[in-house]
Amino acid sequence: MPRKIVHYPHPALRHKSKPVKTIDKELHLNIGEMKELMYQAKGLGLAAPQVALPFQLLVMNVTGDPQQPECEEVFLNPRIVERKDYITAEEGCLSFPGLYQDIRRAQTIKVQAYNLKGQLVEKVVNDLEARAWQHEIDHLNGVLFIDMMGPVSRLMARSSVKNFEKIFREAQAKGEIPPDLEIEKLLAGIESK
Ligand code: ZN
Repeated sequence: MPRKIVHYPHPALRHKSKPVKTIDKELHLNIGEMKELMYQAKGLGLAAPQVALPFQLLVMNVTGDPQQPECEEVFLNPRIVERKDYITAEEGCLSFPGLYQDIRRAQTIKVQAYNLKGQLVEKVVNDLEARAWQHEIDHLNGVLFIDMMGPVSRLMARSSVKNFEKIFREAQAKGEIPPDLEIEKLLAGIESK
């Protein structure tokens, strides 16, 4: 079954990801699917938990343009080692389609991650790119942008968040999405492979 982007409150979004240990064919297949889903959804980045894969993997293209594959990036086991200068700007998430709110993030960050050759790379990124990194790395830790909202944004997002919950639970009740416990078992199965 092809992967798809899961929406809040899918349990995979709250599951803390495991580091990627091997760069193999399966990983490449997953990355290919993630890139395709990211472009289809017109996103700038996608983290593996958003396709119910419990691994520290993210794909990004801050242009959001599949015609600019030179801007495409894939990172494994990323972490932020420095943050500075905080700035508030509007942010969205492919797991909350249509919801946009102001979020405060560091304007400049230094990140470390492994590339697909297994090399550790370090870079300093700013503005939109820094925002995308922080958002995607949060996903790997089970943290969502609704957790990062200030009190005003949170209040404005409340009915939308409740609506996502309602839609998800209705889909589970109809059997279109498995129950939470079953999803947790599936995630544990993927991790132990
Ligand atoms: Zn997101």
